[in-house]
Amino acid sequence: MYQNIVNFIKELYGQDNVPLSVPKFIGNEKKYLNMCIDTTFVSSVGKFVDRFENDMAVYTGAKRAVVCVSGTNALHMAMMLAGVEREDEVLTQALTFIATCNAISYIGAHPVFIDVDKHTMGLSPDAVKAWLAEYGEVRNGQCYNKKTGRRVKACVPMHTFGHPVRIEELAAICEEWSLELVEDAAESIGSKYKGKHTGLFGKVGVLSFNGNKTITTGGGGMLLFNDEELAALAKHLTTQAKIPHRWEFRHDHIGYNYRMPNINAALGCAQLEHLDEYIADKRSTATAYAEFFKHIEDVQFFTEPEHCFSNYWLNAVILKDHEAQQNFLQETNDHGVMTRPIWELMSRLPMFEHCQHDKLENTIFFADRVVNIPSSVRIADVQS
Ligand SMILES: *Cc1c(COP(=O)(O)O)cnc(C)c1O
Repeated sequence: MYQNIVNFIKELYGQDNVPLSVPKFIGNEKKYLNMCIDTTFVSSVGKFVDRFENDMAVYTGAKRAVVCVSGTNALHMAMMLAGVEREDEVLTQALTFIATCNAISYIGAHPVFIDVDKHTMGLSPDAVKAWLAEYGEVRNGQCYNKKTGRRVKACVPMHTFGHPVRIEELAAICEEWSLELVEDAAESIGSKYKGKHTGLFGKVGVLSFNGNKTITTGGGGMLLFNDEELAALAKHLTTQAKIPHRWEFRHDHIGYNYRMPNINAALGCAQLEHLDEYIADKRSTATAYAEFFKHIEDVQFFTEPEHCFSNYWLNAVILKDHEAQQNFLQETNDHGVMTRPIWELMSRLPMFEHCQHDKLENTIFFADRVVNIPSSVRIADVQS
């Protein structure tokens, strides 16, 4: 039934077995890695760490960027920097990768799941506003949940598959309700809302450089800041909170060993040199998909929202119903085209099923219908 789609994707990629999303190394990766080994700077000290942070700050327009070992621990750090504490609540999406909720849980805080928008697949300002109108109450400059009595400290939208949410509206709501805005921009490197890079609209933004993301450092993450002082605190906390000194070991805080090693940063520097090329390539793939699916009944290709520039990290189609989604997954995977459903909703997982949520109407609509289709960069490999 979906044979024409399978054929189209194989032709697009010129492959008989098409993976979902694999990394691409066509630049200085080997050269920079060799420099690390030749100089012995493979670990927690080295020039690639500073360079990667500086290059990324320039690329995104952040005041400062701080690298971490993974996107997940960058999110954990972001929660701490936002002042989230044990037994606080954090408004977020049920339609996200588990890392968002794990980071909230590491603090001992509780996620509250709010619906997403039809046009972004990310947190809906309308739904957040409606939830706050029903349950929110601001006392002494702090927001509380009238139902649980707990403090609602932060709001964490996620830019699903690289498509920016309506972030300006969310920022305004957070301002009005005294919530800290933390963006999970793990999937949206290079994606912009009204020309401004995602991750820069709130207190802190988080990127990921995991192997399946748009560019990779093997494993890695990053914090983006508009605030120099907060960035300096992040740097301090992610490096064991050691007071700088040539030989003394003194620490002034419970710190974390969250610093990205130099070899991973070296990979990141090389990858970043080709990021814009990768994004242009991914956008051309998305254009080809959009054109093709225009003529396919009952399969809708998801395109970037209004006012947005999307990196199209993972392409997504929306099937007619849950049964069609399952059939599509079966048939494509059986025939060498790797596809996968959108994540199981956080609100359905045993760790989070007790958490408060709204009706999650659009969330459930997407969970039943969305499938990700192959999205790797198509630029030819250079042989060395
Ligand atoms: C990839 C990702 C992360 C971070 O994952 P790491 O593998 O720890 O780098 C966080 N949130 C979302 C939504 C992601 O897709």
